[in-house]
Amino acid sequence: MAIDPNFDENREVVDTHEGHDVWGPVDEPEQLGIHGTHVAVDFDICIEDGACVEDCPVDVFEWVDTPGHPESERKADPANEIQCIDCMLCVDVCPVDAIDVDSTRA
Ligand code: SF4
Repeated sequence: MAIDPNFDENREVVDTHEGHDVWGPVDEPEQLGIHGTHVAVDFDICIEDGACVEDCPVDVFEWVDTPGHPESERKADPANEIQCIDCMLCVDVCPVDAIDVDSTRA
């Protein structure tokens, strides 16, 4: 299952984290929702692969610990999504299609 590219129409903002929106539903620690809007990471799909963290040329992502989540105990958080230059590398390298980037959504 990939991230829903229309999450901003199908979900609601339920929280903010490190300056970006969190789109629900959220039921911690098992369900964490989608973090970010311009650069969106579905935390419920992320498996802590890390390719996005390594490859992003402007260091948008930072690790955040998520103990108790069924997919992984760490997530790539788009903490610096405002720096994104829309190169789409993270979207291309994510092995589970957990990331969607759309500058018109921000
Ligand atoms: S699209 Fe490029 S600049 Fe933006 S978060 Fe992904 S890798 Fe980083």
